[in-house]
Amino acid sequence: MMKVRRYLRGSGRVLAFVFVASVIWLLFDMAALRLSINDVNSQLLRERVIREKEIMMMKKQQQQYIGFTQPKRRGFKHPVQRVTHPGKVEHNPGIKLDQVYRHELDPKMEVKKSNQGHEGHVLRSDKNKSDLSKENNGGGLPKKKAVNFDLKVAVANVTQMQRAFRTSKNVLKADLDKAAKSTHSPSDNKDSKTGKKVEEDLVNNGVKVSQPRADEAHPVKTISQQTLVKDVDRKEEVKLSSKPDVNLMSGNHSSPVRKPGVHKVLSLDATNSPRDPNAVGQFGQAVILPGSKDAEVMKRWDEGHFNVYLSDQIPVDRAVPDTRPESCAQSLVHDDLPSTTVIFCFVDEVWSTLLRSVHSVLNRSPPHLLKEIILVDDASTKDYLKEQLDKYMSQFPKVRIVRLKERQGLIRARLAGAAVAKGEVLTFLDSHIECNVGWLEPLLERVYLDRKKVPCPVIEVISDKDMSYMLVDNFQRGIFKWPLVFGWSPVPENVIKKNNMKDTDPIRCPVMAGGLFSIDKKYFYELGAYDPGLDVWGGENMEISFKIWMCGGEIEIIPCSRVGHIFRGQNPYKFPKDRQKTVERNLARVAEVWLDEYKDLFYGHGYQHLLDKKVINIGNLTEQIELRKRLKCKSFKWYLENVFPDMDTPVVKAEGLTTSLNKQHHKDATLTLPVLFLLIQNQQFNYTWMKNIRQQNLCIGSQNSGSGFALTLCINCNSSEPQDDSVRLRPCQPSSVFQKWEFTHYYVK
Ligand code: UDP
Ligand code: MN
Repeated sequence: MMKVRRYLRGSGRVLAFVFVASVIWLLFDMAALRLSINDVNSQLLRERVIREKEIMMMKKQQQQYIGFTQPKRRGFKHPVQRVTHPGKVEHNPGIKLDQVYRHELDPKMEVKKSNQGHEGHVLRSDKNKSDLSKENNGGGLPKKKAVNFDLKVAVANVTQMQRAFRTSKNVLKADLDKAAKSTHSPSDNKDSKTGKKVEEDLVNNGVKVSQPRADEAHPVKTISQQTLVKDVDRKEEVKLSSKPDVNLMSGNHSSPVRKPGVHKVLSLDATNSPRDPNAVGQFGQAVILPGSKDAEVMKRWDEGHFNVYLSDQIPVDRAVPDTRPESCAQSLVHDDLPSTTVIFCFVDEVWSTLLRSVHSVLNRSPPHLLKEIILVDDASTKDYLKEQLDKYMSQFPKVRIVRLKERQGLIRARLAGAAVAKGEVLTFLDSHIECNVGWLEPLLERVYLDRKKVPCPVIEVISDKDMSYMLVDNFQRGIFKWPLVFGWSPVPENVIKKNNMKDTDPIRCPVMAGGLFSIDKKYFYELGAYDPGLDVWGGENMEISFKIWMCGGEIEIIPCSRVGHIFRGQNPYKFPKDRQKTVERNLARVAEVWLDEYKDLFYGHGYQHLLDKKVINIGNLTEQIELRKRLKCKSFKWYLENVFPDMDTPVVKAEGLTTSLNKQHHKDATLTLPVLFLLIQNQQFNYTWMKNIRQQNLCIGSQNSGSGFALTLCINCNSSEPQDDSVRLRPCQPSSVFQKWEFTHYYVK
C-alpha cells in the first residue's frame, strides 16, 4: 500500500491522472466518431478511415507527443491544432468528417483494393523504393527545356517597369473607377506593354522564355472537373452592393453596380487517378514511423530540416483535410476574376515536397485562373533539380522553369519570376507547401475588389516531424516585435467584438509572413517590387509589408484560403555569407528606409553595432528613399497608429526633467544645459532607445575635449560627479551611482 502511495505522490499522481483522463477522452472520442457516421453508400470506406484514426489515436496516446518546432523566421508561436475529427476542432464545429474527406468519400470514386489491413498510416517498411521513384519522376516523359535567366535584366526592369507604370494612364484610370468597375478588364490582359518590354529585353539578352500555348487545356482530368461544370452551371446571378468592397466573401451581395455574375467558390481537387486511401500520410494524417527507421530519418533530416524520409513516402498528390470555416464553401466570388501566375522559388528543395507543392496548385486551382506556374531555380546544387525536374514538369504545359545562373537569394529570385510572369496577379508560394481546396479564388477576389489589397492565405502547419496537416487557430495575424522580429498574434478581442468579426472575414495584417501572398502584378511594380538590395533571405517580408501599408495598400489574411507550409527549425540551404550578418544587413536597410524616428527602436534592441559603418555596409539606399518620397508614403508613426495600434511603441523610453539619483551629494542635480543653451526654454529631455539623453535632434555629449557637456552628437554617457554640483562626462560605469539618472515620465521600465 505504502508503495502504491509513494507512486501516487508528486509526478506519479499527475501521470496517473493524465492516464485516466486520456482513457476517458479516448472513449468519448470513439463514441463521437461512430455517431457522426451514417452514410450507407460509403460505409465500408468510412469504417476503414475510422479504424485507422482509432489506431492512430491509440498510437499517439502511447507515444510522447512531439511538439512543433517553433518557426525561426515565420516567427513566434503559430497556434495549431491537429485535425483529427469533428470533436477536436473546437473553434470550428462546422468541420465534419464527411466534409474533411469530402473528395475521397465521393461514392463515384473508385477505391483501390488494399490488403494492408489495420496497418493504415503506420509506415510499411516494405514499400518498394523503385516503385516510389517511378511514381515520383514520371517515367519516360519527354524533357522540358528550362529557361536560363539573366537576373541583371530582371532587376533593371523593376525600375523600368516602375517608370512605365508611373506614366500609365490605365493605372490612374483603373484607380479612379475601381469601385464601379473591375480593374481587370480583359484588355488589361493584353495591354501589358511593360510586360512585353520586359520579355523583349529578355529575348534580346539571349533569354529564351517558354510559353504555354493559349489553347492548352489543363492537363488534369478528374471527377472534380465535373464538379466545376456543375458549380458554374448553378451560378446565381446575384446583384452586388454599391460598395463592392463590402465583403462579398461573407455573403453580402444585394445591390447592382457590377454586372458580372458570381458563383460559389470552386472546391476543386483534381487528380489523375483515384487516390489510395491507404497511402502513407493520406488525408494529411500524421505518420508514426517504426523506431527502426530512426536512423534513416535522421540521416536524411538535414536535406530539408524536416522529415524528408517520410515526405518521400507520401503521395505527391495526397488529400488534405478541408480546414476552412464552414461557410467558406458557400461563399460567392466573381466569375471574371483575374488570372494568376504562381511563382515558386527554390534552392535545393526536397524533390517530394517540391512536387507536392506544384501538384497541390495544379489540382486545386480553377484552370482558367491559373495562367502558369513558374519555378525559379535559385542555382540549386542538387542534380535531381535539373534534368529530372525538367522531364517531370514537361507533362504539365502550365509549368515553366526559370534557372538562375548564380545564387541570388529568395528576394531577387522572386523578382526574376515576376519579370516573366504573364498572369495579372502574382501569387508567391514557398516550395514546401500544400494548397488546400478552394484556396485561390478567395485571394483573387480580394485583388479584384481592390487592386491595392494584398491577400495572404491562412498559413497552416505541415508538421516537420510526422508530416500531418494541422489547422491553425482563427483570427491569427502577422505582427512584429522589436527588433523587427516577425510573429503571430491573435486579433485583439475588442477589435473582434467591435467589428463583429466572423471567422471568415478578412483580417487586417500588419506584417505578412512573407512566403505566401497574391499581389496585382502592376501594383507590385508600382510599389517598386522588393528592394533588390536585400540579400538571400530575411527582412523582405518587413520591407514589403511596411511599403504596402504606408503607401496606400492593405495586407489581409483571408480565412477562406488556406495553405499548409512546412515550418523548419533551420534554413536547409547555405548562405553565401554569414546568415546572421545577411539578415541583420537586410533589416538595417528596411529600418533606414521605412522606420523614421522609430529606427532607434530597431537599433536600440541589440543592433547598435549596425550603426558602425566599419562593421557593416548596408549598401546604397538612394533609390529606396526616393521611391518612398515619390509614392508619397505615410510615416511609420501613421502605420503604428493606424495599422498596428495595439502595439505599444513609445518612441523614447522616458522624458521630462532629468535628475540625478545621487541626491545625498547634491540636492539640486537636475540636468540643465550650460548658459549657451539656457536660451532654450525647454529643459526637458528624452531618454532614447539608443541610451542617449536627447533634445529634438541633439544629444547631450562632450564639449570639445574636456569633461563639460553640450548638445552635440549622440555619443558618450552622461554622469554626475560628487565634487561640486556640476555635471561632467565620464566613461560609463554601470555600477556607479553617480551615473544614475531619473526622468519625470517613463514609458517603459
Ligand atoms: N529560397 C530561395 N533562395 C534562397 C533562399 C530561399 O529560392 O536563397 C526559397 C526557398 O527554397 C523557399 C522560399 O525561398 O521556397 C522561402 O525560404 P524558406 O522556406 O527557407 O523561408 P521560411 O519559410 O523558413 O521563412
Ligand atoms: Mn518556407
